[in-house]
Amino acid sequence: MTDNYFDHAAERRMILQQYKELMVSVSQKSDERRQQEVKKAFQIAAEAHKDMRRRSGEPYIIHPVEVARIAIDEVGLGATSVICALLHDVVEDTDYTLKDVEDLFNPAIAKIIDGLTKISGLFDHAGSSSIQAENFRKILLTLSDDVRVILIKLADRLHNMRTLDALPEKKQLTIASETTYLYAPLAHRLGLYSIKNELEDLSLKYTHPEVYQTISTKLKESELERQRFINRFIFPIKKALQKDGMDHKIMHRTKSVNSIWKKMKKKEIPFEEVYDLFAVRIILDTPVEHEKQDCWRVYSLVTDHYRPRMDRLRDWISIPKANGYESLHTTVMSNEGNWVEIQIRSRRMDEIAEQGFAAHYKYKGDGSVEDLGLDDWLSRIRDWLQNPSADALDFLDDFKLNLFSDEIYIFTPKGDIKTLPVGASALDFAYAIHSHVGNRAIGAKINYKLEPLSKKLLSGDQVEIITSRKQTPKEEWYQWATTARAKTQIKQAIRDNRKKHVDIGKKTLKNHFQELKIEFTDANIKALMNYVKTQSQVDFYHKIAIKEITEETIKAFSLSYNKGNFLRLIKKQFSKSPAPEESSLDQEIKSKLTSKPQELLLGQDIDKMDYVLAECCKPIPGDDVIGFIKPKSGMEVHRTNCPNAIQHMSTYGKSAVKAKWKETPTVQFLTGIAINGIDKVGLVNEITRIISDELNVNIRSLEIKSHDGLSEGVIMLYLSNTEHLKNLMNKLSKVDGIQKIQRIKKTDQIV
Ligand code: MN
Repeated sequence: MTDNYFDHAAERRMILQQYKELMVSVSQKSDERRQQEVKKAFQIAAEAHKDMRRRSGEPYIIHPVEVARIAIDEVGLGATSVICALLHDVVEDTDYTLKDVEDLFNPAIAKIIDGLTKISGLFDHAGSSSIQAENFRKILLTLSDDVRVILIKLADRLHNMRTLDALPEKKQLTIASETTYLYAPLAHRLGLYSIKNELEDLSLKYTHPEVYQTISTKLKESELERQRFINRFIFPIKKALQKDGMDHKIMHRTKSVNSIWKKMKKKEIPFEEVYDLFAVRIILDTPVEHEKQDCWRVYSLVTDHYRPRMDRLRDWISIPKANGYESLHTTVMSNEGNWVEIQIRSRRMDEIAEQGFAAHYKYKGDGSVEDLGLDDWLSRIRDWLQNPSADALDFLDDFKLNLFSDEIYIFTPKGDIKTLPVGASALDFAYAIHSHVGNRAIGAKINYKLEPLSKKLLSGDQVEIITSRKQTPKEEWYQWATTARAKTQIKQAIRDNRKKHVDIGKKTLKNHFQELKIEFTDANIKALMNYVKTQSQVDFYHKIAIKEITEETIKAFSLSYNKGNFLRLIKKQFSKSPAPEESSLDQEIKSKLTSKPQELLLGQDIDKMDYVLAECCKPIPGDDVIGFIKPKSGMEVHRTNCPNAIQHMSTYGKSAVKAKWKETPTVQFLTGIAINGIDKVGLVNEITRIISDELNVNIRSLEIKSHDGLSEGVIMLYLSNTEHLKNLMNKLSKVDGIQKIQRIKKTDQIV
């Protein structure tokens, strides 16, 4: 270093000293060529920042050098990250451009710097909670670009927090609270436990200065006493381990100020009553193939001396935590009568616990200490982004699971965030929005792709729930839901629905009995209930209402019954006058027949219609239609080309009513489309994309089967009119691979 970057000799010495220390770490991890690159990055940064000073008065270059040191020593990153850390503020704050960085180094480094520059805007100006949600989504997206961006950003924030004293108080508070709600959780998710603890403690120092001071003072005051206790406590363990000849290190770590404070708040106890102020850690130097066995051997030695508390045994060696944490934890009773937590782990496990992801991938790579493992992992993500395949999707699932072990974050189309437990389905999300949304859900668009309600969600998914006013919760939903909220609401809605069905069921049953000449008596109803093996009246009438028990069922029942000796009970006694309700029902039909409207206007509120759209041809607005008044069922509307309508003309011709649609129907109607085509990669995707792009189209079901190179599918949709349907069919017919599109009335019939 011969250039004259710095004014004062003393400052220059200090900077070079820090640079030297950084290079010691770099030289342990990288070859000569990489070391030269790091040197170049330092020179460029020093030159670019030479006139800048931090608020503390220090030369600015101290900051990037320190961030680089944290990145390599505390986060476990490699030379690439050191270079990026050194240059991280160069593009943002000096005349250098990204293009310069790319020319001077390489595109990969330029890309990370670009990410760092972009997220600094996101991170550092987060204000309200809604911006926070949006930021989180963007951070997630950044993560899949290059996780090093986040890791370096964490190193940057850690250094800023360590030097926060220099800033004005208001700025301190903003930065500290951002650290609490964004950076510390992020560090936790990435498995960087010690950085997470330090960030939390430093935040507490500024957000709750008196709490922080009190606890840290008390910790300091009790330190000597604690040290003596620990020495007494570990003495027998040390001896046993030495006797056993196991290569080990015993450490103890005082809990973070923040975690002590959290415990005091949660248990409502003073500092003096927090007993587990520290944990003892036994780290074994043992090869990977022996580590599990050795850790358990140590457990055995420890529990020879101290009685373990069985409900506190945690074996994260057999089953590691989702973020990669491996360790064996136990809590034992000391001779002085208090519980002490002991963590037993190998050196490899300890590095993973301290450095999280970076260490994890270091061990998963080819064993070299350069960030090869991480690079490999990142290139897999890049591949996935360019070439989505089933395998890659599985991998991404793992990745997301690793980051977010117990909770997932789901975004609404507007960017609001909902937190759900891992394993939650689209249905859980629907209920998390509102019970009305849940109860009326028919499907979901997950990242713009149509999926069933049972689909499990992944962190970062954007989900839109498709609803229909005609939907009601189904029994099977219960299995799709995991949250207590959704389960309770589904149960409640099903119960409410059944109650509503009782009236309909009763009326229907009365009609069926009349038709089959069975007397409507309690005894006969009871007999039928036994026959269909239904105990509860609510369930029974519900089954009738939803046509699970039909006239056919009752006919079969009456026939089987008549074979026995109960004929008298069943047969309707004709001598009796008909029940008053029945006569009024007759009259109602008669009056309907005489006072029939000249023309029926269809549309408007489908729930309040005094007509029924025929199941056989499923008319939708725009179709030519005709209405028939049928005894019992009332007005039924068919398409004029429906074979059943033609037949009805001969039977109910007199009661036929001209019908037409209102101009602007607000209601949506269920219709179906059958698709035939060539089985092609991406066909389903293309179809669903077209349908979901279409406004006002809701999919009720989508089923596409492939066999022998051909695809056959049926899509049931809610649409508002025929124009709309024609439009959609037209668009679909243009999809490469689709050979035939037809409208259907039922899944098996083509109109
Ligand atoms: Mn910075």
